[in-house]
Amino acid sequence: MPDHIDRPDVGAAVRGAARDATRETTASEAAREAARDWSGETLRDALGLASEWTVDYRRRVEERPVLPDIAPGDVRRALAKAPPRAPEPFERVLADFDEHIVSGLTHWNHPGFLAYFSSSTRAPSIAAELLVAAVGVNAMLWRTSPAATEVERTAVDWLRQAVGLPDTFSGLIFDTASTSTFTALLAARERAGDGVRDDGLPGGPPLAVYTSEQSHSSVEKSAIAAGLGRRSVRRIETDAAFRMRPEALEAAIAADLERGIRPAMVCATIGTTSTASVDPVPALAAIAERTGVWLHVDAAYAGPAAMAPEQRAHFRGWEAADSIVLNPHKWLGTSLDCSVLLYRDVAPFRASLALTPTYLESEDDETNLMDIGLALGRRFRGLKLWMLFRCVGTDGLAETMRQHIAMSEAAAARLVEGGAFELAAPVSFSTVCFRAPREGDAAGEERLNREILARVNAGGRSFLSHTELDGRYTVRLSVGSVHTEERHLDEALDALHRAAADLSPGEPG
Ligand SMILES: *Cc1c(COP(=O)(O)O)cnc(C)c1O
Repeated sequence: MPDHIDRPDVGAAVRGAARDATRETTASEAAREAARDWSGETLRDALGLASEWTVDYRRRVEERPVLPDIAPGDVRRALAKAPPRAPEPFERVLADFDEHIVSGLTHWNHPGFLAYFSSSTRAPSIAAELLVAAVGVNAMLWRTSPAATEVERTAVDWLRQAVGLPDTFSGLIFDTASTSTFTALLAARERAGDGVRDDGLPGGPPLAVYTSEQSHSSVEKSAIAAGLGRRSVRRIETDAAFRMRPEALEAAIAADLERGIRPAMVCATIGTTSTASVDPVPALAAIAERTGVWLHVDAAYAGPAAMAPEQRAHFRGWEAADSIVLNPHKWLGTSLDCSVLLYRDVAPFRASLALTPTYLESEDDETNLMDIGLALGRRFRGLKLWMLFRCVGTDGLAETMRQHIAMSEAAAARLVEGGAFELAAPVSFSTVCFRAPREGDAAGEERLNREILARVNAGGRSFLSHTELDGRYTVRLSVGSVHTEERHLDEALDALHRAAADLSPGEPG
């Protein structure tokens, strides 16, 4: 019969399958064994190695360059192209982590990290993260992990008390301030729009968002993501100290109302991204109240500083906000990610996003945090904040920020002494903006300051960043790491003065 020619070789296929089955048996046995093994002594050994590594890393991070000296692609080239089929011992994996990965990190826990809003992980938060991974819960509903929801509520309430906000505020924890602000905008959009939740935006009136020209890009990004469009964001002008001008806000709202545009949200900032300036919240709150517009306060960086009583004056009026965001993962010392959103009324949040399919129905709907955000699955983020409060205490947390503020003020004084540098903005909280000035030579000034910054950062001992103020290139230094001491600032200042002197011979400095 001719068909036997085309018939597949069944025998070979069976033999092949048998071979595969043997291989699979060995592989699955190995997997079972690895799982068994990792549940006992191997896990204990691995955690021991990881904890030793962690303690040593923190003790000696200063010996590493704060910025890695690598080119794009270097780390990937050092890693295997494909995943291993067989398990490898943890020691070897950890060695590769140390050799190829940690050497390619920018060390946020380095005491010389003074860039952006510097932050660091306080030790209790590291232990908490381990415990979070150990229990591995998903707190999407209260009942999927009751204590996770309640610890989160408690930790958020402790923070609220610590920063002196009234108990009319409650809240929850998101990953980042970007998400917190976005979620607040969704609630504000629901309150301002005509049934956006059900009908979407196109049918309703156009909406607008008001924030200063110094506010964080996350406000604009939130407007993009919320469907309002970038052009809906009014960047309100600021005064000489980079604070939103209330009269400009009032005029912008009036102009929009006249054109049939509905104001959805005013976002004030306490601690702006470039200079840490503080918007005049009481005046802005009065305007928001008069016009019925949602007031959101972005205090992502500076918010925790309200724990220090002598800093409270900067936060005057924020209790009038509809929502406030503070990031414990910035200055307070929890590991990334931990952004607290506080609100006075949960109803608009639920109105914008709560949606419960049958398979998630439960009897505890009031406490289901999934109703107040986009994400269903929720990490147990409350634990590290709660443990941080327990293990450090509010006095210790406030004192660290107080020291950072004192260090940055001292640094500012040392910077201007000698005349090589001038301040580009008032020192605010722990943030200093400055430049080596070249009056009347904008291009030369930018080149000089870029070069100073590049030299200091290339030294590996300090890492500073830059911004632009009044159209001028500006160097920025922000103290926020629990590891930073005076001597680290001295080092950074010496490097800055050295670079300035080398690059401008004959100039004072
Ligand atoms: C850091 C910061 C943000 C953004 O924070 P993420 O948590 O990274 O999204 C927003 N606003 C201000 C004022 C900030 O300092």
